[in-house]
Amino acid sequence: MITVKDLCKSFGDNLVLDHINEHIAPGEKVVVVGPSGSGKSTFLRCLNLLEQPTGGDIIFEGTSLFDKKTDINKLRQRMGMVFQQFNLFPHLTVMKNMTLAPVLLKLLREDEAVEKAKKLLERVGLLEKADAYPKQLSGGQQQRIAIVRALMLSPDVMLFDEPTSALDPEMVGEVLEVMRELANEGMTMVVVTHEMGFAREVATRVLFMDGGNILENKPPEEFFANPENPRLREFLSKVL
Ligand code: ATP
Ligand code: MG
Repeated sequence: MITVKDLCKSFGDNLVLDHINEHIAPGEKVVVVGPSGSGKSTFLRCLNLLEQPTGGDIIFEGTSLFDKKTDINKLRQRMGMVFQQFNLFPHLTVMKNMTLAPVLLKLLREDEAVEKAKKLLERVGLLEKADAYPKQLSGGQQQRIAIVRALMLSPDVMLFDEPTSALDPEMVGEVLEVMRELANEGMTMVVVTHEMGFAREVATRVLFMDGGNILENKPPEEFFANPENPRLREFLSKVL
């Protein structure tokens, strides 16, 4: 589904991604862990060109993101993204947050979008919040809305960048639960997170990034039981 070849990204003379190679197959749940500044967010943001890579190639569903003929906005519609800071539009109701993009992009008529939004809101137990504004919701509620808002475009893959890191501890579980359900339904997911329990239970593979490289790449059982790279061992000794 996504093939990353020799991906490089520099900010000035700071090489942040150093020839990353990675293949994500349909249905995989890839969890990315690593110390602060290791390049996790930059990697994720390069996958949908929120950051412009400085080298290499990314092939998404058979199409290179860098091919001049590629309509990057069309490709982006097939990749949902959820950020640490929810990023809901503060001046729009929950319902408008959800229907805005699919209606503007002419993927759905207004009434179809409203129907779809209702179903998704119901699924995450927030239908009664349809007319609320983001600031009237808890962090956990806002993040669940951000997830279903991304689902409005029926993406083929969902990218999550530390979706629970800005939440009060008691709200982490409800967001992870929505992500777990999405995983069970077969969604392809790439998740940057510090939630090692989620990585163990949900990931098909766990990647350890450090210094702009992927230093370890294994199914969770092996990743946690048999970490080979010394820097991963050190990292795990701090976070587990
Ligand atoms: P964290 O766990 O703290 O979120 P991260 O692994 O996501 O860290 P990145 O945000 O990808 O790390 O940052 C990797 C490196 O790239 C850091 O050295 C950071 O300072 C640098 N960097 C990231 N974004 C920019 C930018 N827009 N301009 C300049 N440098 C940047
Ligand atoms: Mg980050």
